[in-house]
Amino acid sequence: MEKQHVDVTIIGGGPSGLNAALVLGRARKKVAIIDEGRPRNAVTREIHGFLTRDGVTPSEFRRIAKDEISAYPSVSFVADTAVGITGTDGQFQIETAHGQTFASKKVLFATGMKDEPLDIPGLAEVYGKSAFVCPYCDGWELRDQPLVIINKGAELMHFAQLISGWTNRLTVCTNGPDELTDAEREEFRRRQMPLFDSPIRHIDSSDGIVQQVVLEDGTAVPCRGIFFKPKLVLGSDLPQAFGCGISEDGMIIVDEFGKTNISGIYSAGDAASRLHQAIAAASTGAFVAAVINNELNTESWGRKNEHDN
Ligand SMILES: Cc1cc2nc3c(=O)[nH]c(=O)nc-3n(C[C@H](O)[C@H](O)[C@H](O)COP(=O)(O)OP(=O)(O)OC[C@H]3O[C@@H](n4cnc5c(N)ncnc54)[C@H](O)[C@@H]3O)c2cc1C
Repeated sequence: MEKQHVDVTIIGGGPSGLNAALVLGRARKKVAIIDEGRPRNAVTREIHGFLTRDGVTPSEFRRIAKDEISAYPSVSFVADTAVGITGTDGQFQIETAHGQTFASKKVLFATGMKDEPLDIPGLAEVYGKSAFVCPYCDGWELRDQPLVIINKGAELMHFAQLISGWTNRLTVCTNGPDELTDAEREEFRRRQMPLFDSPIRHIDSSDGIVQQVVLEDGTAVPCRGIFFKPKLVLGSDLPQAFGCGISEDGMIIVDEFGKTNISGIYSAGDAASRLHQAIAAASTGAFVAAVINNELNTESWGRKNEHDN
């Protein structure tokens, strides 16, 4: 297959990659946006908290984004998986699963994060429908409802405090040893927030709506929703395989401009940020696109000046 030459290859077509493509397209850069179409929010029915798009489905969000970007002919969409990257700043080569090759001056990893397989029976059936990870995204729909928090240890107190802003009908299931201090346990008692440390046997649901959480010791906790913290890994192994620095919590390390430790390689969105929200991902995508555009312009301006001399 013929090699395609572009200024920027964006790997990942979620909110971060799409907004980067929009900004770079408007800046008249030649862009390939490679996306295999497995966003982390695919399980959910609606995106919330994104001004002008509150409640839109993830697929509708992408359709609108692609429509808008299509106005800029220097951007091409590639439905494929990036599987290899070689080269150095100014001359990277990206290979895809379907055998396409892109020669690219710069590369943006907008590959997001993905959940490790859920290990509680019944959780997959309710995930994205009545079990969620972020109360800013889905707390409003579950306001004042009886909810179960599945979490333990150091982050549990913060998580419970956060979610208590949407409902005070909260039960905590730690799914095994709670890993709390005595003072923290006392805090839950004082707040009359039930806390169970028996492992979870399964989650009962109907049409994706949780009915109850059933524990190994036989306790059944009726509820209408769940908030939990899944384990996350990078959406792609490519950044690490290519030598990008990875933080202890598994994200791509970038500076304040979205630059990784490798010259010419950038990252934006969930893959490089702790704030996992669509509008934040779109925002960093737009910002890092401007950084990349500036670098490309500076390099080409310099080359033009050299030729002038
Ligand atoms: C259940 C759930 C509900 C959520 N609800 C909301 C909400 O209501 N509001 C909100 O603001 N946020 C919500 N979020 C968070 C939001 O979905 C993310 O913050 C956002 O999607 C991150 O955008 P991104 O572009 O960084 O990554 P993603 O949207 O995950 O996109 C990454 C893309 O890169 C692709 N990709 C990865 N590797 C490769 C590769 N090697 N080659 C080609 N393509 C690749 C993936 O397939 C994917 O399409 C929710 C998340 C979850 C899990």
